Amino acid sequence: RAENRILEVSGIEVVYGGAILAVADVSLTVGAGEIVALLGANGAGKSTVLKAISGLAAADRATVRRGHIRFDGDDILGIAANRLAARGIVHVLEGRHVFPHLTVEENLFAGAFLHRPGRRELLRQIDDVYDWFPRLRDKRRTQAGLTSGGEQQMLAIGRALLTQPRLVLLDEPSMGLAPRIVQEIFQIIGRLNREKGVAFLLSEQNAALSLAHATRAYILESGHVALAGEAADLARRDDLHRIYLGGL
Ligand code: ATP
Repeated sequence: RAENRILEVSGIEVVYGGAILAVADVSLTVGAGEIVALLGANGAGKSTVLKAISGLAAADRATVRRGHIRFDGDDILGIAANRLAARGIVHVLEGRHVFPHLTVEENLFAGAFLHRPGRRELLRQIDDVYDWFPRLRDKRRTQAGLTSGGEQQMLAIGRALLTQPRLVLLDEPSMGLAPRIVQEIFQIIGRLNREKGVAFLLSEQNAALSLAHATRAYILESGHVALAGEAADLARRDDLHRIYLGGL
């Protein structure tokens, strides 16, 4: 696996506003085409790790004070999110962040501002997103704010796909959604991974679900990696929830 790793985070420390230590020491890797889960209780530091990688930490006044982050072997620490998207890393934030007053399709148009393909090519790419998420095709003329939470999550992922990512950082995709729609979203994530080779680093509080879909997982506890391993091995540990995930 060492040969084909695309993301390498080593020993990062992340601090908010120069004072609040959110991530003390986290190292992780993602291989090309892997699905890696980042698990942990509320406040363990999952979102902060993703923001440190995508360059969005700065927007929250968070700084990486120690460690390295490499993508394709290049040091990417401090590179802005839009430039990272052009290199193939895209971050789907927690809470979905679609434009509520724009239609589903207008949201997809807005997602293509970075690479600005020609109109024909863009329509083709949007059609491709609809093929992955047929519900979005059905709702293309609906205001995004009026669609269901699951559809908004699909829209956020679909919009990210328009940047043609090789690595998607996905923050809590299941948050606040009904189990059935969460299953549907995870199935599509699995297919995007197998059929398009997209790698995912996904943060989740839902450990069972993530371990069922991931190759490997890291469990964070108070800004440290408490445990890491193959997802299948971790899924067999019945002490996982009690010890590391806040007794859920
Ligand atoms: P959640 O599931 O709640 O998002 P998480 O594991 O993603 O949890 P983080 O959001 O990364 O955890 O938070 C890690 C720590 O950093 C927490 O102690 C949190 O209070 C703190 N923190 C997060 N965001 C900020 C911020 N904008 N300013 C200050 N402290 C923050």
